[in-house]
Amino acid sequence: MTNRIFTLFIVLTLAFANCACGTDAAPDANDSWNVLTRPKFTGEPAQELETDVCVVGAGSGGIAAAIAAARENADVVLVERQKRLGGTSANAFVSNWEGGPGDAIAKELFERMRAQGGAGVAKEFPHPEIQAPMGLKLVDENEPYENSLMRVNPPEGGYRSVVFLPDAFDRAARDMLTETTRVAILDETTFFQAELDDSGRRVRSVLCENAKGETIRIAARVFIDATGDVWLCRALGLETMLGADARGDFGEVGAPEERQLQLNAISRCYLIEPRDNPKREEGSDAPFPRCAYVSGWLDGPRCVNTLAALPGAALIELGYDQCLIESEKIARSHWRWLQSQPGFENYELVAIAPMLGLREGYRVKTKYVLRESDLIEGWENQPHHDMIAVADHPCDLHGEGGRLEEVKTAYGVPYRCLIPEGKLQNILVACRGAGLSKIAAASCRLQRSMIQLGTAAGTAAAWAARHDGVVENIDVEALVDKIDARSNYPHKGER
Ligand SMILES: Cc1cc2nc3c(=O)[nH]c(=O)nc-3n(C[C@H](O)[C@H](O)[C@H](O)COP(=O)(O)OP(=O)(O)OC[C@H]3O[C@@H](n4cnc5c(N)ncnc54)[C@H](O)[C@@H]3O)c2cc1C
Repeated sequence: MTNRIFTLFIVLTLAFANCACGTDAAPDANDSWNVLTRPKFTGEPAQELETDVCVVGAGSGGIAAAIAAARENADVVLVERQKRLGGTSANAFVSNWEGGPGDAIAKELFERMRAQGGAGVAKEFPHPEIQAPMGLKLVDENEPYENSLMRVNPPEGGYRSVVFLPDAFDRAARDMLTETTRVAILDETTFFQAELDDSGRRVRSVLCENAKGETIRIAARVFIDATGDVWLCRALGLETMLGADARGDFGEVGAPEERQLQLNAISRCYLIEPRDNPKREEGSDAPFPRCAYVSGWLDGPRCVNTLAALPGAALIELGYDQCLIESEKIARSHWRWLQSQPGFENYELVAIAPMLGLREGYRVKTKYVLRESDLIEGWENQPHHDMIAVADHPCDLHGEGGRLEEVKTAYGVPYRCLIPEGKLQNILVACRGAGLSKIAAASCRLQRSMIQLGTAAGTAAAWAARHDGVVENIDVEALVDKIDARSNYPHKGER
């Protein structure tokens, strides 16, 4: 049932979000989000910090990385440009973990959010009265968390999701970080420049700007790029990939012959709550696809995903700031429509997400790039010795060439997907911009997969920081044993 809904979504988004474009991939120079176009800083920073591990970006990957590193006794500085921690989960209001494997940190986050009344396990809720393709996932208090851990061969009645509230995510993550007593959280602080040491083989420090406009230099033994769009790796000039990879790049049958600048569509999510006298949305007249993915509570708050608000290429053509303006108009027209649908009349718009819903951006070329064949072979047949995460989500492409293809069994992600190719020795990448081909990323980008990547990166970074700082020199066998990724998949792909 859910797959049919998604297929409908994809058909709609195909028409709406043709992302192929002929521009070069240079980001808009006047975009406030684009930290790479800032003039080089040459003055004296207001503060100098030194730590074992510096994590840039506090989304799913970054939060898990900081917690895991601190739990391995590393001192950590966590840098985040937004006020609320949680990245896409909490600031793009993608407050929904689709069914699929997660690790101990994900479970702890969930338990803490649920204890605050801010999370639950949800299942598809029938809505025959709504004449539009729509996914509606609502919390069922009787559903155990374990029922949300499989997308392949799910429990009877279909896969379950975890839904949560953005502020609950921020609070739970902050509590977990603070309780380690080792993480300094620098929120409302933006990374903008990286500095190498004299050897040219190590990142020495990063420069960031806080909300007061002060520059902070953070020196660390190991760095983790968890910015989603891999701003740190790009500032370092590391090789990146963008859009569709060519078939020959990773031997992928499902890839186009040539590389294409074809990106998943952009969504703009918003939060609604029930009210006695809800304010009617006047809205704008911006066109939008009449479909939605809604997650939340039957008589409580819900996050609405508009699905394709803008084509993926808009980010490059318009820049982040302009995309925020255009997609807000679309979110408002979308809500004006949805508010008239049965079951939504008593709801009011509470907030539009401060971040765009970006499924895809730059990805880093790493020592190994996860690819289509990994998804097909599955855990049992992948030839890797270093698997640190497990995933089982379908290959979910929105926009031109969009499709939803189930994987047959869970597959693993090697540690090498976190180690950038090139000469730099003390940097890892733990976010959706890690070493995943476009096809693999379309399956592996889920929040609980990013949490697993973060857990592995944080653990490895702490170990490296204790020794020579070289992330390739850690005991990989010990990392694989410690992470025990296979145990995150309750049915081990055999159901
Ligand atoms: C519309 C949509 C629907 C989705 N649906 C689901 C779903 O149902 N279930 C699911 O599990 N996944 C879903 N996903 C995928 C998933 O949400 C993302 O892939 C995942 O959250 C990415 O996590 P991340 O840690 O890689 O990056 P993010 O969560 O984006 O975190 C990156 C962080 O880095 C920060 N940052 C960026 N630049 C800087 C800088 N210069 N300085 C400091 N900080 C910086 C950002 O502010 C952000 O907090 C969806 C995604 C979208 C867009």
